[in-house]
Amino acid sequence: MSKGHPKEKLEKYRQLLENKREALLKELGYLEDNSMNSTITESTGDISAYSFHMADQGTDAMEREKAFLFASREGRFLYHLNQALGRIEEGSYGRCEECGELISEERLTAVPHARFCISCKTKEDARKAAKIS
Ligand SMILES: [Zn+2]
Repeated sequence: MSKGHPKEKLEKYRQLLENKREALLKELGYLEDNSMNSTITESTGDISAYSFHMADQGTDAMEREKAFLFASREGRFLYHLNQALGRIEEGSYGRCEECGELISEERLTAVPHARFCISCKTKEDARKAAKIS
């Protein structure tokens, strides 16, 4: 396996992901414009703790919350952002899940939650398109 992305790059992607997530949470009504420090942040100490727990734990309430999230496009996007942040924690971030190659910096900057490199993604899209038509 080739070496992973350098630490400072990962920090940059993490920042991108967190900015996107913050904007999305606001949109979904989790955060009020001027209450960044209240509710979620206070009860868990940190916003990321909230989302990781949501993804990991299988209680009914969490499952319902997840179902709710998946009901909307924004919710699914939020889920993918959380997954990507989780991959940064694990150290698997930025690697194509299909071929194992590192995803290009250009692509990650444009789509920080990308799971596939551009060539696998292109192939995947072609497969999907073929199915539809
Ligand atoms: Zn690939």
